[in-house]
Amino acid sequence: MTVDPTKPYDDQNIFAKILRGEIPNNTVYEDAYALAFHDINPQADLHILVIPKGPYVSWDDFSEKASDEEIAGFVRAVGKVARDKGMVVRGYRWLSNVGRNAGQEVAHLHVHLFGGGPLGPMLSK
Ligand code: AMP
Repeated sequence: MTVDPTKPYDDQNIFAKILRGEIPNNTVYEDAYALAFHDINPQADLHILVIPKGPYVSWDDFSEKASDEEIAGFVRAVGKVARDKGMVVRGYRWLSNVGRNAGQEVAHLHVHLFGGGPLGPMLSK
């Protein structure tokens, strides 16, 4: 079932449970604004998810409602994870699905970081 990004935040989503420590994760980075962990079903040689600590359904919700401090902290964290994991020299992709057309499955904003090798075309029809 895909996410309706116009609905209010539901703290029973799986990433909220990960943030509360109720479900384990393979953490690669954590700070006051973000948690980064390996995707459980990787779609590239290196596939990391970065999520904000705050309760935001999607990029749409976050970009509208998060404070400047949260936005800056989160964006810095995404960049740091990519650098720290050695993804910059060979290149990587940042992707965030919003809602039905994009196939968003988890109703807590997450940025996918893909890297570790060639990623192919951005989209295939
Ligand atoms: P999206 O389709 O953009 O909502 O992506 C959701 C992503 O979350 C998928 O790539 C899943 O493989 C990933 N995922 C779901 N549950 C977990 C989990 N418990 N730990 C790590 N990644 C997960």
